[in-house]
Amino acid sequence: MYSFKELNKSELTDILVDNSFSAFRSDQIFNWVYNNLVIEPDLMKNLPGGLLKFLTDNFLMENLNLIKIKASNDGTTKFLWELTDGERVETVLIPQSKEEKYTACLSVQVGCDLGCSFCATGMDGCKRNLTAAEIVDQVWQISKYIAENNLGELRNVVFMGMGEPFLNYDNLKKSLEIINSEGAFQIGSRRITVSTVGIVPKIREFGRDFDQVGLAVSIHSGDNEKRSKLMPVNKKYDLNAIKASLKDYYKLTSRRITIEYLMIADFNDSIYDAKKLVEWIEDMNVFVNLIPANPVAGLDHKPSPKQRINKFKNYLDKVNVPVQIRTSMGEDVTAACGQLRLKEEEANA
Ligand code: SAH
Ligand code: SF4
Repeated sequence: MYSFKELNKSELTDILVDNSFSAFRSDQIFNWVYNNLVIEPDLMKNLPGGLLKFLTDNFLMENLNLIKIKASNDGTTKFLWELTDGERVETVLIPQSKEEKYTACLSVQVGCDLGCSFCATGMDGCKRNLTAAEIVDQVWQISKYIAENNLGELRNVVFMGMGEPFLNYDNLKKSLEIINSEGAFQIGSRRITVSTVGIVPKIREFGRDFDQVGLAVSIHSGDNEKRSKLMPVNKKYDLNAIKASLKDYYKLTSRRITIEYLMIADFNDSIYDAKKLVEWIEDMNVFVNLIPANPVAGLDHKPSPKQRINKFKNYLDKVNVPVQIRTSMGEDVTAACGQLRLKEEEANA
């Protein structure tokens, strides 16, 4: 059995040709699956009977089984999926301020091994990587949900759900190729953003592979000692190494990099911390997103008070670092950043 959604068009063409079907059929099938969101071979009207049977017999068309949808008061919707081996992951659909436009926040691993001190996903470790098909299917299922409910348009895709994208690089790459393929979903590269903690060698590779896809880096402190306390991965890839790789990335892509900075009360939210961040940022073309840390049951950090976040932002404004405060959404259904967790979902499902 092939998983359809991990094949790019040329791989599908090869399989078809090897089995004596015409190469151009792959265009038609891709069009059905990724433009019309039709996966039942029987409904693919322009394909010959022999090919319909071949598709039915040899391809797994879906990789995610919907277990639960939770809608938040603010319009954010959390989808819990079961994978074919029984593992579970989540995708979050977030409405944009402009009506009828949405962002899908994708997961890339079942859990995460990096154990950042503020993050629910990291609490149970990483069970396994998602396959490219499981990543692509999140976009497919969400697109279908939006279409069926007449909600509008999927505008943006962000890799900011469960797991570290650059520790599942091959499947990330494959999924981006498929999501980006001509005619698929109509989501351009420029509307896709991948968030990483800064896996240095992969930052360069990503710049070479995808110079149009956005990159966000979770920094959270401009001070190595503090950052290591928050993110153990900083001991392997520290701020200096990340900065060097981001400079190379910028040479390759000329794309402004998003810096994510979690605001944690009385830990990284003082003017001293703002100064450290500005020092680190110096001579890079970046945009800073300040994110109030969401509370996580079992972890003891607290979000910075609004006033402190504003003060921090004002400091960045004063020294001309582009910055915005990102409002959190989906908190009431624990769909907000860093609140996606396996265990709890299994217990509640
Ligand atoms: N592993 C990648 C991508 C997934 S996490 C990364 O860490 O970048 C996506 C974003 O959610 C990251 O910026 C992460 O720092 C943030 N996040 C994690 N826990 C959070 C919390 N408790 N409150 C707010 N944001 C959080
Ligand atoms: Fe993993 Fe990202 Fe959570 Fe850190 S913040 S534990 S890297 S998912």
